[in-house]
Amino acid sequence: MQRRPHVQIYRIQDASVRTRECGRFPRRVMTGLDDTLGPRLAQLDANHLRRSLKTISSGPGPRIWIGGREVVQLCSNDYLGLAADPRLQRAAADAVARLGCGAGSSRLVSGTMDSHADLERALAELKMADASLVFASGYHANIGVVSALMGSGDTIFSDQRNHASLIDGCRLSRASTKVYRHVDPEHLGQLLSAAPTAGQKLIVTETVFSMDGDVAPLRDLVGLARHWGAWILVDEAHATGVFGEHGGGVVQESGLAAEVDVQVGTLGKALGSLGAFTAGGRLLVDWLTNAARTFVYSTALPPAAVAAARVAVDVVRGEPERRQRLWDHATMMRSRLTDCGFRLGPTCSPILPLLVGDDARALKLSAELFKRGVFVPAIRPPTVPPGTSRLRVVPTATHSTEDIETALEAFADAGRVSGVLR
Ligand SMILES: *Cc1c(COP(=O)(O)O)cnc(C)c1O
Repeated sequence: MQRRPHVQIYRIQDASVRTRECGRFPRRVMTGLDDTLGPRLAQLDANHLRRSLKTISSGPGPRIWIGGREVVQLCSNDYLGLAADPRLQRAAADAVARLGCGAGSSRLVSGTMDSHADLERALAELKMADASLVFASGYHANIGVVSALMGSGDTIFSDQRNHASLIDGCRLSRASTKVYRHVDPEHLGQLLSAAPTAGQKLIVTETVFSMDGDVAPLRDLVGLARHWGAWILVDEAHATGVFGEHGGGVVQESGLAAEVDVQVGTLGKALGSLGAFTAGGRLLVDWLTNAARTFVYSTALPPAAVAAARVAVDVVRGEPERRQRLWDHATMMRSRLTDCGFRLGPTCSPILPLLVGDDARALKLSAELFKRGVFVPAIRPPTVPPGTSRLRVVPTATHSTEDIETALEAFADAGRVSGVLR
């Protein structure tokens, strides 16, 4: 059958067409979209807030290739260096060979394989919970879980610096959301005491905050939750694999696994794969299986990602020396950067927020570092509050001492040249 060319379907005035491998396609109709987006982007540019993609031509690791050059990267969330661990790579490759590339449907249709169930058992154990449920990403997990548990008439209490996915989960749920000051249990207590007694209450917080590296006062928050009859959900995206004797996270380290209603963790950060999970009671998981729309209506995690994450759980539990090395690097870098004269935020984790303030100057520092073979992009609003632009410096377990030394030298030079250090 002859295919009708698109040019006729759309009745393009100027019928000039270009050719690509896939054939002829019409010149785009001018709907005014470009006229709107052009000035918006120009505005971002003028404010030093435009973002763009840097492409990397190597795999992940302590050193990566960008623009034909090898640089030390100090900005990933691959805390334990597992994303390119040969054991994870082999497990993923074997899974592809045995099971194929895609799950083919959502978990509730035909997408659940033995390996999903096995991974969920391992994750529940890692989190000392009865059960766990895997999602396609942390973003899926957070918006799915918050909106599955809460609805209109309920009240959510959310830390001011919570991740975008938690904020969007609150919005989607249609519950009333009260934002409490960052890591401030006193303010949370005031908001709880002023809240309507009707309806369910939920406290939502990260344990390790992604851009500041500080840690929520979990024991106080749990205490408030019990006192006011609220549930508590904690996002351990940056704590899983990094905190706790077995890498179970801050909840585990604080001995609060039995007190926290919902734990969320991700598979794409310290676990070196992709995806996320919630851990908690059996009924929580059964409810989410029915009611979390991002679980029900999204394709299951593919075999390669599941297999890599499964091996990562064993590595996280079995190789505490990786955590030790990560922490050693972070402690050393933190004191050396401070000695150099940089201002670091009050972090309690391997996330080192090197505070610059001014957006343009943060970009300049990042560019000067790049010239010296170190890759750390500037983090600007709206990811962080206005006036607090920073470089989020994160070493990993697989950086060598030499990598760190090279980077520290570059920081000292780049700091002076960019005017961040005086
Ligand atoms: C990265 C992150 C997420 C999202 O996880 P993805 O798997 O990358 O979608 C959620 N919460 C926090 C705190 C994060 O840092």
